[in-house]
Amino acid sequence: MNFPQNLPKIIHYIYQSFEEFVSPRHCEICGNHIGLNKRKLEFICDNCFYLLPKAPSPDLILNSLITNFPGDELFISNAISLFSVSGTNHIFIKIIHSLKYKSFTKVGYELGHLLGKELIKFHFLDYDGLIPVPIHVARKRERGYNQSEIISKSVSKVINKPILNNLIIRNRYTLSQTKFNSTQERKDNLIDAFSFKSNPNEVQNKIFLLIDDVLTSGATVNTIAKLLIESGAKRIDVATLAKA
Ligand SMILES: [Zn+2]
Repeated sequence: MNFPQNLPKIIHYIYQSFEEFVSPRHCEICGNHIGLNKRKLEFICDNCFYLLPKAPSPDLILNSLITNFPGDELFISNAISLFSVSGTNHIFIKIIHSLKYKSFTKVGYELGHLLGKELIKFHFLDYDGLIPVPIHVARKRERGYNQSEIISKSVSKVINKPILNNLIIRNRYTLSQTKFNSTQERKDNLIDAFSFKSNPNEVQNKIFLLIDDVLTSGATVNTIAKLLIESGAKRIDVATLAKA
């Protein structure tokens, strides 16, 4: 059950108490009952939260992108992430998976809030707009939402920058990037995958932050960054919930 956002505190509390009565809340990771105790994230207990491996620093993430996209192939200037994940069985991947496929949108809002605070911590704030990585319209229809837009909504509230949902579209219903092992296969899967929905001139001399759930090889965000830079954008940074 998802409660509406932005309710007055007392109504929010009554709603939560009712929710807790109807279906008692448990930690998504360890399964322990967490009830209405105050904690860092609503959906997991604080023990589990502090055990989540933190992502490498922006410098280290950028170094890994430079390795994947040598020479002048990289179009991203900075990359920031909250948590580190490895392998498909990682617990955080399960949480992201529930955000993507089980409509667990509250996770996206909460983690987006943390991501916004991380951007403030590293002074990554000089953006003209936030661009959620688009999913194909057919996929959005299936899923009912784009998880990157949900994350972006929270980031936007924290750092007070507009979301540009109608700038770029995904042309093809591409296979999930997770189906490919090599960076080259991931790059090939994305040829012509994105294009401008609105006038490309709008991006001239602007600085944008691309937002996605997980950064793996960086092929998806780099493809969008290339499109923007080649159309005159000044700088593209990337922010994700997790770095694989
Ligand atoms: Zn737990």
